[in-house]
Amino acid sequence: MTQDPGRSAPAASARGLALLRDPLLNKGTAFTERERDALGLRGLLPPHVLSQDEQVERFLENLRRQPDDLAKYVALNALNDRNAALFFRVVCDNIDEMQPLIYTPTVGLACQRYGHIFQSARGLFIGANDRGRVAQVLRNWPLRAGIIVVSDGERILGLGDLGANGMGIPVGKLSLYTACAGVQPDLCLPVILDVGTNNTELLDDPFYVGLRQRRLRGAAYDELVEEFITAALEVFPGVVIQFEDFANQNAFRLLKHYRDRICTFNDDIQGTAAVALAGIFSALRITGGKLGEQKVLFLGAGEAAIGIADLIVAAMASQGLTEQAARARCAMVDSRGLVVKNRTDLSEEKRRYAQEHAPIGDFPAAVKALKPTAIIGVAAVGGTFTGEVLQEMARINQRPIVFALSNPTSKSECTAAEAYRHTGGRALFACGSPFDPVTLDGRSFVPRQGNNSYIFPGVGLGAIASRTRRITDEMFMTAAHTLAHDVTESDLEQGSLYPALPRIREVSTHIATAVARVAWRNGLAAGREPQDIAAHVTSQMYDPHYHRLV
Ligand code: NAD
Repeated sequence: MTQDPGRSAPAASARGLALLRDPLLNKGTAFTERERDALGLRGLLPPHVLSQDEQVERFLENLRRQPDDLAKYVALNALNDRNAALFFRVVCDNIDEMQPLIYTPTVGLACQRYGHIFQSARGLFIGANDRGRVAQVLRNWPLRAGIIVVSDGERILGLGDLGANGMGIPVGKLSLYTACAGVQPDLCLPVILDVGTNNTELLDDPFYVGLRQRRLRGAAYDELVEEFITAALEVFPGVVIQFEDFANQNAFRLLKHYRDRICTFNDDIQGTAAVALAGIFSALRITGGKLGEQKVLFLGAGEAAIGIADLIVAAMASQGLTEQAARARCAMVDSRGLVVKNRTDLSEEKRRYAQEHAPIGDFPAAVKALKPTAIIGVAAVGGTFTGEVLQEMARINQRPIVFALSNPTSKSECTAAEAYRHTGGRALFACGSPFDPVTLDGRSFVPRQGNNSYIFPGVGLGAIASRTRRITDEMFMTAAHTLAHDVTESDLEQGSLYPALPRIREVSTHIATAVARVAWRNGLAAGREPQDIAAHVTSQMYDPHYHRLV
């Protein structure tokens, strides 16, 4: 495994069987006659040479014959373990079909069944019992990591505590970094911090992969995280560390603790924020309104809501509003009603959004009272944008912004059809789960998912390309602007607030370039600013087509 970042043709040092077993170099039956002679492969492969296109076709034929999505997930991961280039060709060329298989929703099921479908290890498992030797564990990784996605498995998607089974998440996420933004696969390191699990079903499962202990808490937990971060920077200087699927109380704390110390971000909080803000920017391209005039009401006040609100406030402040005025424009309803000043049960994060308002018990009443221009559903409670709520939004606003972001589909606040039907086709709608196009009164609407994968791969690539020391709010704001800018007029005409997914590599390149530009402008990047940042970014991107090895 000898590929350097930014180099398109890896040098083949391995030969024979070792070469066929190196997923970063293996081409399987696509090794040419010359390569077979020069690299000691003759006889180790069947004689008929296939092109990569033919291999893709053959793999797809097999994949589509699999009985269910979990079987497809297993087949795709096995391909990645054998032949990374072929895996990424399959994924990149069929992103609409493959993303739901390698990431949500299938990855959720894969994590639940992780111990039972386990075939071979991927990534690094760092356990509570590794305290004092984490650097040593990291040195066992044979490659130079440029980006780590780390989870402690406590809040896997909407599925709760899955402990070390959560490894499917960093693995899947990093595949998206490569597929959607061309981050070199050999720079990607998935990590699980196995601090135990409180999921008794898993603790009783003979095939559970993790430590048989309850979760570390308090100082012991913090010390393990700190040792991991320090060791990661020592072993892989400059590495980007993305936190993923940590439970609420740790996610905010760790982000606050590390964001100004290392190059890090939390996608559940900041990536979600940027994709939602991009959706609002796209909606404003249709209405012609200004961000500072919006009044946003969130259903939910967790990682997604607080993250989105923080970025909206930062964006409003950058347009001249005071922070206080901007916060007053972002209200939240949680399971106990409107988040208001006189409530005594609020966390530090929620308190920042507490409104000067009399208590309101439920969401429909809050919509009536606050008259928002936008409602954003991130409470993971299905059906909460009722006909009454949507009709009220349509009464208050000419073009109501309605984002039903909760996942999976069963938790969606409303369907796309409901959003359009109850607003007479006037809703500017985005969703967390996929919905089919809707036809209403002869008009056709194409709702698109506010998927985080529009944002984090580009941000990661931009961070790697600029070797930035920090990942800032300004970078996420820039990413949001860039994404909204990439939405075409014909997208907007059909009600799509995001670009089509097959354009993801192009979009990610734009985002990475914009992020790297911010890094250089703010003195955060390492090395001299290249004359052409876009060309510099593109030159770092992985190309899954085969390269000649001789
Ligand atoms: P979280 O657990 O941090 O927050 C959930 C919040 O909802 C909490 O504040 C909770 O108090 C509140 N809540 C629970 N029941 C409620 C009720 N009945 N009424 C009002 N509020 C209630 O979770 P999160 O990370 O913020 O994610 C929330 C949802 O958003 C999930 O479904 C997730 O899949 C989705 N999400 C979507 C995207 C995306 O589409 N890009 C990104 C991130 C999260």
